[in-house]
Amino acid sequence: MGVGAKEALALDWSARLAERAQAYIPGGVNSPVRAYRSVGGSPVFAARGEGSRIFDVDGNEYVDYVMSYGPLILGHAYPEVVEALERTTRSGTTFGAPTEIEVEVAEEICAAVPSVEMVRLTNSGTEATMSAVRVARGYTGREKILKFEGNYHGHGDALLVSAGSGVATLGLPDSPGVTEGAAKDTAVAPYNDLDAVREVFSEIGEEIAAVIVEPVGGNMGCVPPEEGFLEGLREVASQYGSVLIFDEVMSGFRVARGGAQERYGVTPDMTCLGKVIGGGLPVGAFGGRAEIMEMVAPVGPVYQAGTLSGNPLAMAAGLATLKATAEPGFYERLEELGDRWKAGMTEAAEAGDHPYCVNGVGSMVSLFFTGGPVRDFSSAAASDTEAFKDFFWHMMSRGVYLAPSQYEAGFISAAHTEDEIDRAAEAAREWFASGGAG
Ligand SMILES: *Cc1c(COP(=O)(O)O)cnc(C)c1O
Repeated sequence: MGVGAKEALALDWSARLAERAQAYIPGGVNSPVRAYRSVGGSPVFAARGEGSRIFDVDGNEYVDYVMSYGPLILGHAYPEVVEALERTTRSGTTFGAPTEIEVEVAEEICAAVPSVEMVRLTNSGTEATMSAVRVARGYTGREKILKFEGNYHGHGDALLVSAGSGVATLGLPDSPGVTEGAAKDTAVAPYNDLDAVREVFSEIGEEIAAVIVEPVGGNMGCVPPEEGFLEGLREVASQYGSVLIFDEVMSGFRVARGGAQERYGVTPDMTCLGKVIGGGLPVGAFGGRAEIMEMVAPVGPVYQAGTLSGNPLAMAAGLATLKATAEPGFYERLEELGDRWKAGMTEAAEAGDHPYCVNGVGSMVSLFFTGGPVRDFSSAAASDTEAFKDFFWHMMSRGVYLAPSQYEAGFISAAHTEDEIDRAAEAAREWFASGGAG
């Protein structure tokens, strides 16, 4: 079905641009997730967005469930964000001097996110996690870190390790170019597996500077933390004097205004942010207890910097976004839309025989083509990616824009409507009812 579905979409101009792009940009994309390697075909080039909708260069219109992989919680071209950007641009876009709006953004973040007493702004989530790990190492005087299989923390060397061979595996690099030296201090445990965490700590706990975790897994599809997992991490990290870092680049201001730490009531020592806090512009941030953040230069000895960090444009888009999310009922509405998506997709999948698993936390959602439960990387990897590929093109042909990978979460914005979500579920139902792939 999917192959026909793909051909039903006119994507000629996208294909021509992809060809041009490939001559000068590796793979034709500036971030590999945008390539269509796992679904076949070439990337759909975006022309324009409006609210929940995205329009490609061939004039096809879709309801967008990618939302730039998370940042656009208000939808595309939200009027207050556009207006803030226009106004700010006219006054100069960067100064290399501090500006008032940085203070406002920092105040907003510290007020909303329970663990953050002080915050430093960066230009990407990758910078935020790299810096947080450096600060944790500086603070503890230790070198090792523990991360989880299938969690993504940007592409910094020490974090580009997910190993897979389980407990206490001291990392092998995931990518050529990452030295063994950079990877050897990174231990990896399966997500949602506290026993594995305790085992790692019983061996090398005294050497662990930080545990870094996505408190809601979002980079192996959406994988919620199981009851007790985050609490357990909190307990073990405290017991050994390690810094607990929640990487909330995706979940921050997404699964609740105060992120997963507010939603689950577990407070880490440090938090990384990005995506939503930039309102669609490049941004990241790391923060935490003042005592830890005072390690950062110029107050403390841990160096971290950025020419464009906290630049007025990113701050303006971010602040307008953060203010909109503070409106009463904002997250309740996202929660309702997410619940509707999950119920709709479950009902759709029940119309056929293909195994499935619907996961979601608030407006982060995933449909896996495996019987589930999907609770860690290996259960996510059991998903039938051939089925996903077919499903993907079917949905695209019905005007439902999804990330071209089984392992990306879907995102619902405040601009989506009940009707749009029902229509996505109806499109999915067609696919399941007709027998799915093959
Ligand atoms: C997106 C993401 C990052 C990386 O952020 P960039 O801005 O792409 O560098 C880090 N951690 C998590 C959890 C993310 O989802």
